[in-house]
Amino acid sequence: MTRRTRQTWVALTDVGRVRSHNEDAVLADPPLFAVADGLGGHEAGEIASQIAIETLRDHAPRKPDANALGRAVRAANREVIRAAQEGVGRSGMGTTITAAIVDGTDVVVAQVGDSRAYLMRGGALTRITEDHSMVADLIRSGQLTEAESRVHPNRSVITRALGTDPNMYADTFEVDAEPGDRILLCSDGLTGMLTDDAILGLLQRHRDPAIAARALIDAANEAGGVDNISVVIVDIEGPSARGKGFRSREMRLRGWIAAMGWLLVAALVACAIGAAAWFYARSRAFVVLEGDRAVVYQGVPGELAGISLSWRDISSEIDTSALTPAQQAAFNGDLLFDDLKSAREYVRSLPTTAAP
Ligand code: MN
Repeated sequence: MTRRTRQTWVALTDVGRVRSHNEDAVLADPPLFAVADGLGGHEAGEIASQIAIETLRDHAPRKPDANALGRAVRAANREVIRAAQEGVGRSGMGTTITAAIVDGTDVVVAQVGDSRAYLMRGGALTRITEDHSMVADLIRSGQLTEAESRVHPNRSVITRALGTDPNMYADTFEVDAEPGDRILLCSDGLTGMLTDDAILGLLQRHRDPAIAARALIDAANEAGGVDNISVVIVDIEGPSARGKGFRSREMRLRGWIAAMGWLLVAALVACAIGAAAWFYARSRAFVVLEGDRAVVYQGVPGELAGISLSWRDISSEIDTSALTPAQQAAFNGDLLFDDLKSAREYVRSLPTTAAP
Protein backbone atom coordinates (compact mmCIF):
# COMPACT_ATOMS: atom_id res chain seq x y z
CA MET A 1 0.00 0.00 0.00
CA THR A 2 1.49 3.34 -1.00
CA ARG A 3 0.87 6.19 1.36
CA ARG A 4 0.41 9.45 -0.48
CA THR A 5 0.70 12.87 1.07
CA ARG A 6 -2.73 14.40 0.86
CA GLN A 7 -3.48 18.04 0.21
CA THR A 8 -6.37 20.22 1.09
CA TRP A 9 -6.52 23.70 -0.28
CA VAL A 10 -8.74 26.69 -0.92
CA ALA A 11 -8.50 29.80 -3.09
CA LEU A 12 -10.77 32.77 -2.35
CA THR A 13 -10.86 36.36 -3.52
CA ASP A 14 -13.08 39.20 -2.33
CA VAL A 15 -13.63 42.70 -3.68
CA GLY A 16 -13.44 44.23 -0.19
CA ARG A 17 -15.63 47.09 1.08
CA VAL A 18 -14.27 50.09 -0.84
CA ARG A 19 -13.27 49.12 -4.38
CA SER A 20 -15.83 48.67 -7.15
CA HIS A 21 -13.74 46.06 -9.00
CA ASN A 22 -11.77 43.08 -7.92
CA GLU A 23 -8.42 43.39 -9.69
CA ASP A 24 -7.00 40.38 -7.85
CA ALA A 25 -6.96 36.94 -9.41
CA VAL A 26 -6.34 33.59 -7.76
CA LEU A 27 -5.40 30.21 -9.17
CA ALA A 28 -5.69 26.75 -7.67
CA ASP A 29 -4.69 24.10 -10.18
CA PRO A 30 -2.79 21.64 -7.97
CA PRO A 31 0.13 21.43 -7.69
CA LEU A 32 0.12 25.06 -8.89
CA PHE A 33 -1.33 27.87 -6.77
CA ALA A 34 -1.09 31.63 -7.28
CA VAL A 35 -2.31 35.06 -6.27
CA ALA A 36 -2.03 38.09 -8.56
CA ASP A 37 -2.91 41.68 -7.61
CA GLY A 38 -3.59 43.77 -10.69
CA LEU A 39 -2.61 47.44 -11.01
CA GLY A 40 -3.76 50.08 -13.43
CA GLY A 41 -7.32 50.98 -12.59
CA HIS A 42 -10.28 51.22 -14.97
CA GLU A 43 -10.43 47.42 -15.17
CA ALA A 44 -6.90 47.24 -16.61
CA GLY A 45 -5.63 45.70 -13.38
CA GLU A 46 -8.17 42.90 -13.73
CA ILE A 47 -6.96 42.23 -17.26
CA ALA A 48 -3.30 42.23 -16.22
CA SER A 49 -3.80 39.85 -13.28
CA GLN A 50 -5.97 37.55 -15.40
CA ILE A 51 -3.43 37.40 -18.25
CA ALA A 52 -0.65 36.73 -15.75
CA ILE A 53 -2.55 33.89 -14.06
CA GLU A 54 -3.54 32.27 -17.36
CA THR A 55 -0.03 32.51 -18.81
CA LEU A 56 1.42 31.16 -15.59
CA ARG A 57 -0.94 28.18 -15.72
CA ASP A 58 0.07 27.45 -19.31
CA HIS A 59 3.82 27.69 -18.63
CA ALA A 60 4.31 26.51 -15.05
CA PRO A 61 5.98 23.13 -14.42
CA ARG A 62 3.95 20.32 -12.85
CA LYS A 63 6.74 19.55 -10.42
CA PRO A 64 8.50 21.70 -7.81
CA ASP A 65 11.11 23.24 -10.10
CA ALA A 66 11.88 26.77 -8.88
CA ASN A 67 13.76 27.83 -12.02
CA ALA A 68 10.98 26.58 -14.29
CA LEU A 69 8.40 28.40 -12.16
CA GLY A 70 10.51 31.58 -12.41
CA ARG A 71 10.57 31.17 -16.22
CA ALA A 72 6.77 30.82 -16.23
CA VAL A 73 6.50 34.12 -14.33
CA ARG A 74 8.77 35.78 -16.90
CA ALA A 75 6.53 34.42 -19.68
CA ALA A 76 3.55 35.94 -17.84
CA ASN A 77 5.41 39.27 -17.70
CA ARG A 78 5.99 39.22 -21.47
CA GLU A 79 2.30 38.44 -22.09
CA VAL A 80 1.11 41.38 -19.95
CA ILE A 81 3.52 43.71 -21.80
CA ARG A 82 2.45 42.34 -25.18
CA ALA A 83 -1.25 42.68 -24.33
CA ALA A 84 -0.80 46.36 -23.42
CA GLN A 85 1.14 46.97 -26.66
CA GLU A 86 -1.68 45.35 -28.63
CA GLY A 87 -4.23 47.58 -26.97
CA VAL A 88 -5.64 44.99 -24.57
CA GLY A 89 -6.12 46.65 -21.21
CA ARG A 90 -4.10 49.82 -20.80
CA SER A 91 -0.52 50.85 -21.20
CA GLY A 92 1.09 50.86 -17.78
CA MET A 93 -1.11 48.11 -16.43
CA GLY A 94 0.68 45.56 -14.31
CA THR A 95 0.28 42.92 -11.68
CA THR A 96 2.01 41.26 -8.79
CA ILE A 97 2.30 37.51 -8.71
CA THR A 98 3.02 35.04 -5.94
CA ALA A 99 3.02 31.49 -7.25
CA ALA A 100 3.71 28.18 -5.54
CA ILE A 101 4.10 24.58 -6.63
CA VAL A 102 3.18 22.31 -3.74
CA ASP A 103 4.14 18.68 -4.33
CA GLY A 104 3.83 16.70 -1.14
CA THR A 105 6.24 18.41 1.21
CA ASP A 106 8.27 20.00 -1.60
CA VAL A 107 7.28 23.62 -2.09
CA VAL A 108 8.74 26.20 -4.46
CA VAL A 109 7.60 29.82 -4.65
CA ALA A 110 8.10 32.53 -7.25
CA GLN A 111 7.50 36.11 -6.23
CA VAL A 112 7.10 39.54 -7.85
CA GLY A 113 5.50 42.51 -6.05
CA ASP A 114 3.91 42.81 -2.64
CA SER A 115 1.61 39.81 -2.50
CA ARG A 116 3.07 37.27 -0.09
CA ALA A 117 3.69 33.62 0.66
CA TYR A 118 3.75 32.49 4.29
CA LEU A 119 4.60 29.21 5.98
CA MET A 120 2.68 28.32 9.11
CA ARG A 121 4.40 25.63 11.17
CA GLY A 122 3.27 24.83 14.69
CA GLY A 123 2.61 28.15 16.40
CA ALA A 124 4.71 30.27 14.05
CA LEU A 125 3.98 32.15 10.84
CA THR A 126 7.04 32.83 8.69
CA ARG A 127 7.19 34.98 5.57
CA ILE A 128 8.65 33.00 2.68
CA THR A 129 8.71 35.99 0.33
CA GLU A 130 10.06 39.52 0.58
CA ASP A 131 7.90 42.37 -0.66
CA HIS A 132 9.09 44.33 -3.67
CA SER A 133 7.77 47.63 -2.33
CA MET A 134 9.04 51.04 -1.33
CA VAL A 135 8.17 50.53 2.34
CA ALA A 136 9.83 47.10 2.38
CA ASP A 137 13.05 48.73 1.08
CA LEU A 138 12.79 51.38 3.80
CA ILE A 139 12.27 48.71 6.49
CA ARG A 140 15.24 46.71 5.18
CA SER A 141 17.46 49.82 5.31
CA GLY A 142 16.29 50.58 8.85
CA GLN A 143 14.45 53.81 7.97
CA LEU A 144 10.98 52.53 8.80
CA THR A 145 9.40 50.09 11.22
CA GLU A 146 6.84 47.48 10.28
CA ALA A 147 4.18 49.42 12.23
CA GLU A 148 5.09 52.71 10.51
CA SER A 149 4.96 51.02 7.12
CA ARG A 150 1.30 50.14 7.66
CA VAL A 151 0.30 53.82 7.58
CA HIS A 152 3.02 55.14 5.24
CA PRO A 153 1.52 57.23 2.36
CA ASN A 154 3.55 55.25 -0.20
CA ARG A 155 2.79 51.85 1.29
CA SER A 156 1.18 50.68 -1.97
CA VAL A 157 4.09 51.68 -4.20
CA ILE A 158 5.68 48.52 -5.53
CA THR A 159 9.17 48.35 -6.95
CA ARG A 160 8.80 45.26 -9.12
CA ALA A 161 5.77 44.08 -11.06
CA LEU A 162 4.76 42.24 -14.20
CA GLY A 163 3.92 44.47 -17.18
CA THR A 164 6.64 47.10 -17.50
CA ASP A 165 10.19 45.74 -17.65
CA PRO A 166 10.83 43.00 -20.24
CA ASN A 167 13.92 41.95 -18.24
CA MET A 168 12.01 41.55 -14.99
CA TYR A 169 12.73 38.40 -13.03
CA ALA A 170 11.03 36.66 -10.13
CA ASP A 171 12.55 35.87 -6.76
CA THR A 172 12.29 32.14 -6.13
CA PHE A 173 12.27 30.19 -2.89
CA GLU A 174 12.44 26.51 -2.00
CA VAL A 175 10.74 25.30 1.16
CA ASP A 176 11.06 21.88 2.80
CA ALA A 177 7.59 21.67 4.25
CA GLU A 178 6.42 19.11 6.81
CA PRO A 179 3.10 17.39 7.27
CA GLY A 180 0.91 19.74 9.32
CA ASP A 181 2.41 22.86 7.73
CA ARG A 182 0.13 25.35 6.04
CA ILE A 183 1.08 27.52 3.07
CA LEU A 184 -0.69 30.87 2.71
CA LEU A 185 -0.58 33.03 -0.42
CA CYS A 186 -2.30 36.41 -0.14
CA SER A 187 -2.60 39.85 -1.65
CA ASP A 188 -1.87 43.07 0.26
CA GLY A 189 -5.60 43.51 0.80
CA LEU A 190 -5.14 40.95 3.58
CA THR A 191 -1.75 41.94 4.97
CA GLY A 192 -2.57 45.67 4.80
CA MET A 193 -5.54 45.06 7.10
CA LEU A 194 -4.24 42.36 9.43
CA THR A 195 -0.96 41.91 11.26
CA ASP A 196 0.94 38.65 10.92
CA ASP A 197 -0.12 37.77 14.49
CA ALA A 198 -3.78 38.27 13.63
CA ILE A 199 -3.38 36.13 10.50
CA LEU A 200 -1.65 33.39 12.50
CA GLY A 201 -4.41 33.43 15.13
CA LEU A 202 -7.10 32.82 12.51
CA LEU A 203 -5.06 30.16 10.69
CA GLN A 204 -4.61 28.31 13.99
CA ARG A 205 -8.22 28.66 15.06
CA HIS A 206 -9.67 27.12 11.90
CA ARG A 207 -8.33 23.73 10.80
CA ASP A 208 -10.54 23.63 7.71
CA PRO A 209 -8.72 25.72 5.06
CA ALA A 210 -11.97 26.95 3.50
CA ILE A 211 -13.24 28.20 6.86
CA ALA A 212 -9.84 29.74 7.69
CA ALA A 213 -9.75 31.61 4.35
CA ARG A 214 -13.28 32.91 4.89
CA ALA A 215 -12.37 34.04 8.42
CA LEU A 216 -9.29 35.90 7.11
CA ILE A 217 -11.34 37.71 4.46
CA ASP A 218 -14.09 38.56 6.96
CA ALA A 219 -11.50 39.94 9.40
CA ALA A 220 -9.86 42.06 6.67
CA ASN A 221 -13.26 43.44 5.72
CA GLU A 222 -14.09 44.19 9.35
CA ALA A 223 -10.77 46.04 9.58
CA GLY A 224 -11.80 48.25 6.66
CA GLY A 225 -11.59 46.12 3.53
CA VAL A 226 -9.97 49.02 1.65
CA ASP A 227 -8.50 46.76 -1.04
CA ASN A 228 -9.30 43.53 -2.81
CA ILE A 229 -8.51 40.54 -0.59
CA SER A 230 -7.17 37.22 -1.90
CA VAL A 231 -6.30 34.16 0.12
CA VAL A 232 -4.95 30.79 -0.99
CA ILE A 233 -4.35 28.18 1.71
CA VAL A 234 -2.66 24.85 1.00
CA ASP A 235 -2.37 22.34 3.83
CA ILE A 236 0.53 19.91 3.79
CA GLU A 237 -0.94 16.74 5.18
CA GLY A 238 0.68 13.40 5.83
CA PRO A 239 1.08 10.48 8.21
CA SER A 240 2.73 12.46 11.00
CA ALA A 241 0.43 15.49 10.89
CA ARG A 242 -1.28 16.21 14.21
CA GLY A 243 -2.13 12.79 15.56
CA LYS A 244 -2.50 11.31 12.11
CA GLY A 245 0.72 9.38 12.73
CA PHE A 246 -0.93 7.64 15.64
CA ARG A 247 -4.05 6.97 13.65
CA SER A 248 -2.11 5.49 10.77
CA ARG A 249 -0.10 3.27 13.14
CA GLU A 250 -3.37 2.11 14.64
CA MET A 251 -4.72 1.49 11.14
CA ARG A 252 -1.59 -0.44 10.20
CA LEU A 253 -2.04 -2.59 13.33
CA ARG A 254 -5.67 -3.14 12.47
CA GLY A 255 -4.67 -4.12 8.94
CA TRP A 256 -2.11 -6.56 10.31
CA ILE A 257 -4.65 -8.18 12.64
CA ALA A 258 -7.10 -8.47 9.74
CA ALA A 259 -4.39 -10.09 7.58
CA MET A 260 -3.58 -12.59 10.36
CA GLY A 261 -7.28 -13.31 10.73
CA TRP A 262 -7.63 -14.09 7.05
CA LEU A 263 -4.49 -16.23 7.16
CA LEU A 264 -6.01 -18.24 10.05
CA VAL A 265 -9.26 -18.68 8.13
CA ALA A 266 -7.31 -19.83 5.06
CA ALA A 267 -5.33 -22.33 7.20
CA LEU A 268 -8.54 -23.72 8.75
CA VAL A 269 -10.14 -24.06 5.32
CA ALA A 270 -7.03 -25.88 4.02
CA CYS A 271 -7.14 -28.24 7.04
CA ALA A 272 -10.83 -28.94 6.51
CA ILE A 273 -10.26 -29.72 2.83
CA GLY A 274 -7.34 -31.99 3.73
CA ALA A 275 -9.35 -33.84 6.36
CA ALA A 276 -12.32 -34.28 4.03
CA ALA A 277 -10.01 -35.58 1.29
CA TRP A 278 -8.38 -37.97 3.76
CA PHE A 279 -11.69 -39.36 5.01
CA TYR A 280 -12.96 -39.68 1.46
CA ALA A 281 -9.78 -41.49 0.36
CA ARG A 282 -9.94 -43.91 3.34
CA SER A 283 -13.42 -44.97 2.25
CA ARG A 284 -12.32 -45.77 -1.32
CA ALA A 285 -10.17 -48.42 -2.98
CA PHE A 286 -8.65 -49.21 -6.32
CA VAL A 287 -6.84 -52.06 -7.98
CA VAL A 288 -3.79 -51.93 -10.26
CA LEU A 289 -1.77 -54.54 -12.07
CA GLU A 290 1.89 -54.51 -11.03
CA GLY A 291 3.69 -57.12 -13.14
CA ASP A 292 1.70 -60.29 -12.59
CA ARG A 293 0.25 -59.14 -9.30
CA ALA A 294 -3.11 -57.47 -8.83
CA VAL A 295 -2.64 -54.99 -5.99
CA VAL A 296 -5.41 -53.49 -3.89
CA TYR A 297 -4.90 -49.97 -2.65
CA GLN A 298 -7.04 -48.27 -0.08
CA GLY A 299 -7.57 -44.64 -1.11
CA VAL A 300 -7.69 -42.88 -4.48
CA PRO A 301 -5.14 -42.80 -7.30
CA GLY A 302 -2.94 -39.73 -7.76
CA GLU A 303 -1.95 -37.03 -5.31
CA LEU A 304 -3.54 -34.03 -3.60
CA ALA A 305 -1.17 -31.08 -3.26
CA GLY A 306 1.79 -33.45 -3.61
CA ILE A 307 0.46 -35.87 -0.99
CA SER A 308 -0.42 -39.43 -1.92
CA LEU A 309 -3.83 -40.51 -0.70
CA SER A 310 -3.46 -44.26 -1.09
CA TRP A 311 -2.25 -47.10 1.10
CA ARG A 312 -1.15 -50.48 -0.23
CA ASP A 313 -3.44 -53.31 0.89
CA ILE A 314 -3.36 -56.95 -0.27
CA SER A 315 -1.96 -58.29 -3.52
CA SER A 316 -2.49 -61.50 -5.41
CA GLU A 317 -0.44 -63.24 -8.12
CA ILE A 318 -2.73 -63.75 -11.09
CA ASP A 319 -2.61 -65.53 -14.43
CA THR A 320 -2.72 -62.52 -16.75
CA SER A 321 -3.06 -64.78 -19.79
CA ALA A 322 -6.34 -66.07 -18.36
CA LEU A 323 -7.90 -62.62 -18.00
CA THR A 324 -10.97 -61.96 -20.10
CA PRO A 325 -10.69 -59.09 -22.61
CA ALA A 326 -12.99 -57.06 -20.34
CA GLN A 327 -10.76 -57.72 -17.31
CA GLN A 328 -7.66 -56.72 -19.32
CA ALA A 329 -9.33 -53.55 -20.52
CA ALA A 330 -10.34 -52.69 -16.96
CA PHE A 331 -6.68 -52.68 -15.87
CA ASN A 332 -5.85 -50.09 -18.53
CA GLY A 333 -7.91 -47.47 -16.69
CA ASP A 334 -8.49 -46.68 -13.04
CA LEU A 335 -10.17 -49.68 -11.46
CA LEU A 336 -12.06 -47.89 -8.70
CA PHE A 337 -14.20 -49.34 -5.91
CA ASP A 338 -16.56 -47.77 -3.42
CA ASP A 339 -14.95 -49.65 -0.56
CA LEU A 340 -12.00 -51.86 0.31
CA LYS A 341 -14.09 -55.00 0.67
CA SER A 342 -15.35 -54.81 -2.92
CA ALA A 343 -11.79 -54.29 -4.20
CA ARG A 344 -10.50 -57.32 -2.30
CA GLU A 345 -13.40 -59.46 -3.56
CA TYR A 346 -12.66 -58.37 -7.12
CA VAL A 347 -9.00 -59.37 -6.85
CA ARG A 348 -9.97 -62.76 -5.38
CA SER A 349 -12.28 -63.33 -8.31
CA LEU A 350 -9.43 -63.00 -10.79
CA PRO A 351 -7.84 -66.19 -12.24
CA THR A 352 -4.80 -67.14 -10.22
CA THR A 353 -1.73 -68.94 -11.48
CA ALA A 354 -2.45 -72.66 -11.54
CA ALA A 355 -0.63 -74.48 -8.82
CA PRO A 356 2.03 -76.82 -10.22
MN1 MN B 1 -3.94 45.03 -3.64
